[in-house]
Amino acid sequence: MESAYKETMFILKKYNISANKSLGQNFLIDDNVIQNIVESANITKEDLVIEIGPGLGTLTARLLEKAKKVIAIELDNRMIKILNDRFSLYEKFELINEDVLKVDLRTLISKNKAEKIKVVANLPYYITTPIIMKLLEDKLEIESITVMVQKEVAKRLTAKPGDKLSGAITYSVNYYCEPEEVIIVPNLSFIPEPEVESEVIKLNLREKPPVEVENEELFFKLIKASFMQRRKTLINGITNSGLMGKEECKELLRKVGLDEKVRGENLNMQDFANLANEIKIKY
Ligand code: SAM
Repeated sequence: MESAYKETMFILKKYNISANKSLGQNFLIDDNVIQNIVESANITKEDLVIEIGPGLGTLTARLLEKAKKVIAIELDNRMIKILNDRFSLYEKFELINEDVLKVDLRTLISKNKAEKIKVVANLPYYITTPIIMKLLEDKLEIESITVMVQKEVAKRLTAKPGDKLSGAITYSVNYYCEPEEVIIVPNLSFIPEPEVESEVIKLNLREKPPVEVENEELFFKLIKASFMQRRKTLINGITNSGLMGKEECKELLRKVGLDEKVRGENLNMQDFANLANEIKIKY
């Protein structure tokens, strides 16, 4: 196979196009990084791979070599033309020209029976979080999500709940999966170079959450409320969010054995589960 750099330059020239910044287009040109992504995703001939934002198809070509089927979801019409020219002869290639956030992934997956389903992508950074949250919250039959994201976001997604780098999304990600860091990727690995550093991470979906939660909506609401004002106490965060009054909140903390002065960022997953399970009223 041609090197990713040559391939990219050739296609950009042939179709006389340049990257569209507002669509987060930074094309991967580093063969080692591409190989690393494909190997970390651990794709077998039984797997259905969903690729988000295939772009010029550099990663897609390598995924097609390994998988049973690749479904690629791309928003940019210019890329659709290129991808069809390159791969429409492959029976195992399906292309969806849509905003990934609007695609009904559940139906898509149910139409494509496969041993395992893996998501692989060099994500458009402007919608990293909504894409990851959609993949997790839709509770799809996915085994893993191997994605390139902004390094700063990678650190938050792979932090341990309660660590310095953790945020509300750390708890959500850890509730649904076990995250791991794969490789830090220099800016030079892309054309054009992104303004931020990048990192590949892998999210391994859990069979069941690590804590028992009676009301997930309330559990996540509590976590969000606690991180809205990071430097304030948990009581402040919860009361300011309108979930309950101060006295009620103090009583709640007492019941689950937490100090009145505790901050949300000091709580682990079990603490939040205890709090949510203790609140009897449905919000
Ligand atoms: N996979 C290619 C690569 O690695 O070189 C391109 C990755 S580029 C970072 C992100 C890709 O996502 C672009 O092709 C862009 O057009 C596409 N994209 C942006 N927003 C999208 C959306 N809402 N839905 C689907 N694809 C999108």
